[in-house]
Amino acid sequence: MATASIDIQAFTATTFTTPDKFSQFCSNGGAPLGGIIGGKSVSGSMNATFQTTDPGSQEVLATICEMGEAEVALAVETAHKAFIGDNGNGWKDVLVEKRIALVNKLVELCGRDRDILLACEIRDGGKVSELATGDFTQIRECAEYFSGVARRIAMGEGPERSVAPRVKGFTYREPWGVVAGIIPWNYPIVLTSWFMFPALLAGNTVLIKPAEDTPISALYIAKLAAEAGFPPGVINVLPGRGEITGQCIAKHPGVRYISFTGSPGVGQAILRTCDRHGTRMKREMGGNGSAIVLSDADPELVARMVGRYVNQHYGQTCCTVHRVFVDRKIADPFIDAQRSFLEGLKIGYQTDEGTQLGSVINSTQHHRILQAQKETAARGGQAILSGGVAEVSGKDGFYLKPALYRTSPEVDCNPQEVFHTFATVCPVDSAEEALQLANRSPYGLGASVWTQDIERGVALAKKFRDGTGQVNCHNSIAYGLPYGGQGISGGPGGGVNCEDTFLDYTQVKAVYVADYPG
Ligand code: NAD
Repeated sequence: MATASIDIQAFTATTFTTPDKFSQFCSNGGAPLGGIIGGKSVSGSMNATFQTTDPGSQEVLATICEMGEAEVALAVETAHKAFIGDNGNGWKDVLVEKRIALVNKLVELCGRDRDILLACEIRDGGKVSELATGDFTQIRECAEYFSGVARRIAMGEGPERSVAPRVKGFTYREPWGVVAGIIPWNYPIVLTSWFMFPALLAGNTVLIKPAEDTPISALYIAKLAAEAGFPPGVINVLPGRGEITGQCIAKHPGVRYISFTGSPGVGQAILRTCDRHGTRMKREMGGNGSAIVLSDADPELVARMVGRYVNQHYGQTCCTVHRVFVDRKIADPFIDAQRSFLEGLKIGYQTDEGTQLGSVINSTQHHRILQAQKETAARGGQAILSGGVAEVSGKDGFYLKPALYRTSPEVDCNPQEVFHTFATVCPVDSAEEALQLANRSPYGLGASVWTQDIERGVALAKKFRDGTGQVNCHNSIAYGLPYGGQGISGGPGGGVNCEDTFLDYTQVKAVYVADYPG
């Protein structure tokens, strides 16, 4: 079979120089960066701080104050006051066009300070520039999409109808009030935008709980929000560890709605906590994505395409490919090409020109991934690339080599999200067998089919037990289409990035009005 000549590259770094303004913001005149509550920097009553580091070099970038129970309580109270206001001037009362104007101003300021926000992704998050610049565009795209939705969705009273003799009824749609976004470390700017814009535009006031590994961008966005003119208390940022700050948010009954993005175990634990006092929650969680490669696909071309997604953000992407099921007829050339693509990745420091595989986020992940590589082999995965520790000269980061395993249908060696440039390839006899194996996972975030026969691909894609099915593409996201998970990858709610997302940030009540008796 002829191999297409298109050049498919992994996401790659161009040289990035850290702007002085980023370093100045992080150093904060020598004081730790506080949380942001009611527009003010708050250092926290626990007197606890933590450091956020560049994962590729372990340089400390900033010291951050951890927010505890008292700060969460203060933030809820402050956000509630900002929501309600006095005499009709709360955020809930602000006209949609005024909210949109403030959001636009914030987007404009993000554009002005693009290099600082890129530094947050690249230095704090360890990402290569090609991916970080793509992430940055999501700020504007997300704000524009949800501004359109906010203009379309009717809030307040729905049409009235007679429901019984002398009784009428109507719906009443309103924002929840104080809503919290609990954000993971891998896509901080994107996921903060995906939470914050629909929640704010629907009329809620927000608490943003950034991940402890990547808290800088949320704090910087809060600074820009104040400059944009958002009223104090509308956007609050509560940095801290999950088990401290995150738990305090989960336990606080004043938080009416939680939008969680992260791992399934943590999402389930938060749900158990907040459900006790009736706080609603939506959960967008991890995946163990699959790709099915049919016999008519060009094995070398598709192996490179799939390899690009296996390695997106070094595999630290929720919906990326970790399990490949390939038709046995093309399995050998596919595996050879996948090995050569992954082996050819340039391992390096994330700001150095040409780097394609940088450091993982922290030592816990580093340890977990090494353990998972060992377990995959112990469960019967035949190592094509056995992973292991990588060294990058002069950099003290958490570097790892890619791992690739050949497996077979009876061997379940890849049951959990590993979150690195890691994949198993399983030769199969038919598309139906591939589909059955792909759907065997309890995760269900994203899956793809690779074939020249689009009609067949679409028929298979519809049968995935995943929130997103794709043909000849992967890690696909578009505003207007829901991005959410099935199985343990998602919770209730309409996913993100669509009209249902906006509706998730509202509640609908029924109101009945009967004539006065008599
Ligand atoms: P995580 O679940 O460890 O943490 C996510 C957030 O929850 C962090 O802010 C953390 O501080 C907080 N948290 C942790 N323990 C908590 C607790 N007990 N109570 C309250 N809050 C707590 O996830 P992570 O390691 O930051 O991120 C990686 C995970 O996120 C992966 O599973 C990945 O697939 C998933 N993810 C999913 C999506 C999606 O859209 N579905 C997007 C990005 C990442």
